[in-house]
Amino acid sequence: MTHRAGRHFLQIPGPSPVPDRVLRAMSAQVIDHRGPGFADVGKRALDGMKTIFKTDQDVIIYPASGTGAWEAALVNALSEGDRVLMYETGHFAAMWKKMAEKLGLRPEFIAGDWRGGADPDAIETRLREDRGHEIKAVCVVHNETSTGSVTPIAQVRAAIDAAGHPALLMVDTISGLASIDFRFDEWGVDVAVSGSQKGLMLPPGISFNAVGAKAMEAAKNGGMRRSYWDWLDMKAINQTGYFPYTPATNMLFGLNEAIAMLHDEGLENVFARHQRHGAATRAAVRHWGLEVLCRQQGQESGVLTAVVMPEGHSADAFRATALKHYDISLGNGLSKVADKVFRIGHLGDINDLTLAGTLTGVEMGLRKAGVPHQSGGVDAAMKVLDDTPAPGIAAE
Ligand SMILES: *Cc1c(COP(=O)(O)O)cnc(C)c1O
Repeated sequence: MTHRAGRHFLQIPGPSPVPDRVLRAMSAQVIDHRGPGFADVGKRALDGMKTIFKTDQDVIIYPASGTGAWEAALVNALSEGDRVLMYETGHFAAMWKKMAEKLGLRPEFIAGDWRGGADPDAIETRLREDRGHEIKAVCVVHNETSTGSVTPIAQVRAAIDAAGHPALLMVDTISGLASIDFRFDEWGVDVAVSGSQKGLMLPPGISFNAVGAKAMEAAKNGGMRRSYWDWLDMKAINQTGYFPYTPATNMLFGLNEAIAMLHDEGLENVFARHQRHGAATRAAVRHWGLEVLCRQQGQESGVLTAVVMPEGHSADAFRATALKHYDISLGNGLSKVADKVFRIGHLGDINDLTLAGTLTGVEMGLRKAGVPHQSGGVDAAMKVLDDTPAPGIAAE
């Protein structure tokens, strides 16, 4: 069978489905990125991203996946041999740490069980011990996409301040931005990292740094050897709306459309929609008699829900069955939880019926794959949707 009728359900926690409006905006002839028509596109993208990060400080856009923007954050603001405090929230935190090691930094992990966000108290305790201020940065993942847990960033900032420690606060909000609340300036974040293919509803291909004054100063006075990733070259040319090398022109067309859509809906409504869909998904999972991986109350993600497979059942075999029979892609378990967990993405351009269809696909998949569960999870989710007012829609 080469053609399958209907839309494929891409319910992995990034890439997320791209709205038709964004696809149409991108489906345009490439323009001269040094010509007079480009500056407006570049300026709109750079200024628009400031409204998404909630910052008046600098935003940098790279033609790279999120991993590139991770590297940019580390090589601009830190120097070889610097100690960095990281927190083991899951696979992505572990990957960022591995990168820091490869770059010659000296990262240390506060161990975590992959079932919650970073613990601000543990960070404060470690920073208080560091009387000589050898630790130059605290790096945390805002929304840990491998586990579905959220780190309270404002509390991490408060922990750093309570310890009286000068370390920079660096936040990976690759899958958090534009889906769950993020406030760069208000929360005193020094460097934030994000990407295009999660809450921003774009294809993969561009990524971002938001850079505060203190981090920019660190980059001016040092940082590591760098060229492509250099914030200073980028910032200088960005003033005019242009880029030092060829930007991902059509991705920027799409980005400007996506930013307009987010503001049309209202960022607060976008965040509330994700919270509501997360709550409905967890109600379904619990009704099925399955376990949500995140067990820290209040830290469950509105972006995705990671579900623990019952003992003796393969998460990957279940996902393959759901894909084959119902044309739905669900996220796999990564590294430590490979085959033990599957992830339901509920981020980006989705509404109540997309979610209901997704949960129906999961429930049908559980049945088809012979995974023990109590049927009726979709009904439990519908009840949550019915009981929680839909953001931006007037009640009847
Ligand atoms: C997706 C993701 C990454 C990796 O981004 P790429 O675009 O795949 O390079 C890193 N961290 C988090 C939290 C992510 O969700």
